[in-house]
Amino acid sequence: MSDLLANLNPPQLQAVTLPPVHALILAGAGSGKTRVLTTRIAWLMSTNQVGPHGILAVTFTNKAAKEMIARLSAVVPINTRGMWIGTFHGLCNRLLRAHYREAGLPQTFQILDSADQLAMVKRLLKNLNVDDEKYPPRELCHFINAHKEQGVRAAQAEAYDNYTQKRVELYAEYENQCNREGVVDFAELLLRCFELLQRNEPLRRHYQERFRAILVDEFQDTNKLQYAWLQLLAGGGAKVFAVGDDDQSIYAFRGAEVGNMRDFERDYAGDNIIRLEQNYRSHGNILAAANALIKNNRERLGKNLWTDAGAGEPIRAFEAWSDLDEARFVVEEIRELVRDGVAPTQIALLYRSNAQSRVLENELFTKNVPYKVYGGLRFFERQEIKHALAYLRLLGNPDDDTAFLRVVNFPTRGIGARSLENLQATAHQCNSSLYNAAASLTGKAGQTVGAFIRLIEQLRVETEGLPLPEMVEHVIEKSGLAQHYRTEKEGQERLENLDELINAAATFVDDEGAIGEGGALVSFLTLASLEAGEHQAGEGQEAVQLMSVHAAKGLEFDVVFITGLEQGLFPHENSVSQGRDGLEEERRLMYVAVTRARQRLYVTCAQTRMLHGQTRYCVPSSFLDEIPEELLKKLNKKAAPAATPAYGSFGGGYAETNSSGLRVGQSVEHARFGVGVIVATEGRGADARVQVNFGAAGMKWLALEYAKLTPL
Ligand code: ATP
Ligand code: MG
Repeated sequence: MSDLLANLNPPQLQAVTLPPVHALILAGAGSGKTRVLTTRIAWLMSTNQVGPHGILAVTFTNKAAKEMIARLSAVVPINTRGMWIGTFHGLCNRLLRAHYREAGLPQTFQILDSADQLAMVKRLLKNLNVDDEKYPPRELCHFINAHKEQGVRAAQAEAYDNYTQKRVELYAEYENQCNREGVVDFAELLLRCFELLQRNEPLRRHYQERFRAILVDEFQDTNKLQYAWLQLLAGGGAKVFAVGDDDQSIYAFRGAEVGNMRDFERDYAGDNIIRLEQNYRSHGNILAAANALIKNNRERLGKNLWTDAGAGEPIRAFEAWSDLDEARFVVEEIRELVRDGVAPTQIALLYRSNAQSRVLENELFTKNVPYKVYGGLRFFERQEIKHALAYLRLLGNPDDDTAFLRVVNFPTRGIGARSLENLQATAHQCNSSLYNAAASLTGKAGQTVGAFIRLIEQLRVETEGLPLPEMVEHVIEKSGLAQHYRTEKEGQERLENLDELINAAATFVDDEGAIGEGGALVSFLTLASLEAGEHQAGEGQEAVQLMSVHAAKGLEFDVVFITGLEQGLFPHENSVSQGRDGLEEERRLMYVAVTRARQRLYVTCAQTRMLHGQTRYCVPSSFLDEIPEELLKKLNKKAAPAATPAYGSFGGGYAETNSSGLRVGQSVEHARFGVGVIVATEGRGADARVQVNFGAAGMKWLALEYAKLTPL
């Protein structure tokens, strides 16, 4: 026990050992909030104040939950299996699985991730003949989710104009469709769970009596519904221990309310507010930069952060000519760091927008630096994995139209768009699932769709009673997916991923604690959808970590690169339209980024950048100006850029001119190769090269200094 408390500073110790009261730990980045929360759970259990059964802990990611459980098993000799530690989504899912009947859900209900949700909304609009330009599907998803996050059902939604009225009607249609199919989206997990507890008194009382201690990490990012859910569960006398940092609230765009912190202080914590002010993560200069930045925000609850770690290195700032140049610089530095013994997993490359990762990835790949991207297309979001999962979902629940449409004609079975439209119309008319409506199809469509239905039935019979990994393997093989990818040109990687899915199923089964209500398949599919929705990093083996700043929350690394610090990118241009609030949220995001670094921080920007197929000329981010000059060490650009990208070559539509005045698209003549057209330019001055397409003589890269090209 003394071990447990040994490494805490006085306020941390005070927080960990508080008597059973509601409390708020309000503290800046890296001050040990997560550590305090975990230690408190261990302390409550090891002093027998609360049993493992009585703990409910909400973490920001599933990975954080697993880490917490692992740490607890290490320090407290009890069985941590089955403890209620997880994300809001994970915990609500668990509760709904246990009480699916009371919640009005089928036992095998499936979770729609955001891509599935979008697909469903598109389908709905089409079925109802709604103009999707007037009602863009993405916006409609947002509208629906925002309402659910406020706890508002379609029936209660207010509309003061016709346009909103229509959107509310579509929301209602969407709810019906989800119920018909037996699927729930992410926001629904929470709302459904909340309503269940609110409505069902015995059930509510059961959980209220069960949970004695409720602990919440990253409290600043809870939304209104999550807060209400916590209040409901705490209604039986449980004590809520919340930790958070208002300066790190970065999900307002998704409905998070920093106001929850003030409400919590007023309604619960009262005087039990503990501030942690010592930062254990970052060296002094990094912390000073973070403090200087965040000082520019107006409404803060106010905290001071200090460290006794010493000033450390200055923050390295680099302004590149172009995004490619920036990537080269970053990768060069990384290679040097790794040569000097820094573990690649301790190096993070952060960006504001996921689209930025491509150039960085390309350079890392070219230079053979292992890397891992988080929050982009993750495993469970890959096409082939989603196809395989769709087959599995149909085995569990044939009414799942989203899964049905995903694979009814994949691999191709000669089912045309027309047939599917007919099928959808029929299903819509008789208010049934596509699967059930298929029986009424006649003619060729009847045959082809019928064959698909028989395939699913057959798969169901064949996999009955099989262990999960064998079931997955069987489905991948017999559905025709494996064969399809074997014949596809680039199918090898997809086949490997499908093998990986079988492995994932095997590992999943080994971890038997994870099998919940509804059997292994349902639990496995649940895991897949929750993971797909989670934009949070994990640990890669020996690989540099790439992720958006949002995904980096709560994590720490020895070395951090914040790239693309340009006006319009970071702060993001979308934030500008939201005025000062938007800018302040961006600044909090920047604060999160800066405070991820332990020892070394790089901030980089580029003068030109290719984004979404267009070259932009960029101005350095105003956030760079907010970092005091004396903390920065400006690294110089080389006299001439290593290379300037050849944006004009394909697709970009932008003709890059290099220093010699040659530009992409220009015709030139060469003494030996004849007439050609410039497709790319690179470098300046003595380094300048151009790529020329000489038709029959081929594509050539030519150094301008040597090759004599005559412009035509
Ligand atoms: P964030 O706001 O980024 O989520 P946090 O407040 O949750 O940060 P932690 O991640 O808990 O901070 O802690 C930051 C780092 O400091 C961790 O590496 C943690 O182990 C370490 N740490 C926390 N408290 C102490 C302490 N008393 N002594 C030594 N190290 C500590
Ligand atoms: Mg934390």
